Amino acid sequence: MHFRVSHPRQCPKCGKSMLRKFYSYAYNVEIDTCQYCSLTWFDADELELLQCLIELEEKRSR
Ligand SMILES: [Zn+2]
Repeated sequence: MHFRVSHPRQCPKCGKSMLRKFYSYAYNVEIDTCQYCSLTWFDADELELLQCLIELEEKRSR
């Protein structure tokens, strides 16, 4: 599977281009991470989706 990255997000901390990667392959949630200061960035809708996933995982592990 190939994904095109149109415009890499700039790190809000150091201003470098961030790496786009999948947080979860199962749900196709993409996050941006900075190699330089290890900052992780979510889009607003991605964050909402991630919160749902994390809640599901917590329920499963109990
Ligand atoms: Zn950075």
